[in-house]
Amino acid sequence: MNEALPLVKTSWWFDEAMTNDANARTISLTGKTDADVVVVGGGFTGLWTALNLKEKSPGLRIVLIEAGLCGSGASGKNGGKVHGYWSALPGISAILGPDAALEIARAGSKAQDGIRAFATLKGRDLWWKEAGNIRISAAPAQDTKIQTAILCARELGVPDSAIELSHADVETRIQSPVFRGGVFYPEAANIHPARLARALRSAVIDCGVEVYENTPMLHLERSSPNLIKTANGSIEAKHVVLATNTALAKMPEISPHLTLFSSYALMTDANPDAIDRMYWQGGQGISDFRMFVHYFRATPDGRVLMGSGSGPISATGDDTDPGLTMDRSSAQRAVSGLRRLLPEFNHTLTAQIWGGGIDVSADRLPFFKSMPCRTIHYGAGYSGHGVNATYIGGQCLSSLVLGTRDYWSSLPFCTRTLPSLPPEPIRTWGGSLIRQSIIACEEAEEQQKQASLYDRFIAEMPKLFGLKVGTR
Ligand SMILES: Cc1cc2nc3c(=O)[nH]c(=O)nc-3n(C[C@H](O)[C@H](O)[C@H](O)COP(=O)(O)OP(=O)(O)OC[C@H]3O[C@@H](n4cnc5c(N)ncnc54)[C@H](O)[C@@H]3O)c2cc1C
Repeated sequence: MNEALPLVKTSWWFDEAMTNDANARTISLTGKTDADVVVVGGGFTGLWTALNLKEKSPGLRIVLIEAGLCGSGASGKNGGKVHGYWSALPGISAILGPDAALEIARAGSKAQDGIRAFATLKGRDLWWKEAGNIRISAAPAQDTKIQTAILCARELGVPDSAIELSHADVETRIQSPVFRGGVFYPEAANIHPARLARALRSAVIDCGVEVYENTPMLHLERSSPNLIKTANGSIEAKHVVLATNTALAKMPEISPHLTLFSSYALMTDANPDAIDRMYWQGGQGISDFRMFVHYFRATPDGRVLMGSGSGPISATGDDTDPGLTMDRSSAQRAVSGLRRLLPEFNHTLTAQIWGGGIDVSADRLPFFKSMPCRTIHYGAGYSGHGVNATYIGGQCLSSLVLGTRDYWSSLPFCTRTLPSLPPEPIRTWGGSLIRQSIIACEEAEEQQKQASLYDRFIAEMPKLFGLKVGTR
């Protein structure tokens, strides 16, 4: 194990964004106040919701409270790969059917348009680059995923959403000794995620939302109006939007539907020459076909972000579990991914590595819902895929607050019945065993070896039990 891993609690993105944020002055809540709507959580979900509410109903008095700084959660530490659901068509179609899968993918396209419009507004420099997304087979065992994707897009009548790449096609886009064929998804972009979060914060402040940072919600009293208590104040509000991401996994109403995994990402030092040597055109987001995926992208200054979605499961949905942010084995898997997939970066130093919780739902799709009282609303379940989907979340949650039945609130994200995850202790204990076996199988496959019979059997268990989480 490399003891010199520069594992940090924040992220390279967030540190960079804060040094470039001219409006970083924070205010914390002191005393009593009231509002029409309180949004709890200053990540993409909360910020898009507040912005949408102001656009749809400018007269609303909206307060947003954030435990730390806006963008300091998952929104400021992700891979910045922005794409909707075209690459997820096979999985969604198998669960919800082809019509719902297409409806969801088209909603993702609308989100992509909305994020593009925000990110490219004059005066904003959010490193928005639209060059598509590639999924690459990086081992013979991953090859079958290519045909699954291509056939599904054809069968659903959207062949242009997923284009097959031969090995030679891949080589014209990026070269690596372990890359094979792949699939190109044209609708995708890369962004600087923390700059996006900070730009959203500025936009909501500019349109009149009161933003209080370093102000965690300590207690929510469900009443009419609802009462939120913080360390030095309180807020009465008719509507509350809980946009607290992984923290929602502890809530009794939500915990049957949400579990916490984690993802680890590193940022290298800049090495534009190494990118040139790979003939990497640089703008695409890329990932392999592992279930515990390696995802990667370059930055405009020639760095590479490499992530490994293989971090530990948190016991009983505790979002403060150190395994979500400080697990050195998972951080090391991001390093190993860089060394194997992009060996041109073998001699480039890693600037920072960080980890973060991933809120995984039983069908791996997010959900946006209201509690039976109709005045408390929540959204989660992004399953490691939230940069595009949090825009959808903002639209859906603002429609739920306003009680409008429209395009967004009629989507399966709001209307489907949520499947449940297995109960504890099977969920965490069984999930951890399955995770270890899948990692063992995927690592063996990369070395073109066969994993042990035990690991192969345990890795198949989710499929045998008809689960959608943990299936390869
Ligand atoms: C390492 C990593 C890589 C990822 N890569 C990608 C990617 O490339 N593409 C992609 O689409 N998705 C990716 N994701 C997922 C994506 O980042 C998330 O789905 C998305 O950011 C969720 O946004 P959010 O606003 O719901 O959550 P967050 O950004 O976590 O915001 C929730 C906020 O709520 C605050 N909060 C919590 N409790 C309280 C409280 N009691 N009171 C007040 N505030 C509170 C937190 O401080 C936090 O700021 C990645 C995630 C991680 C961790």
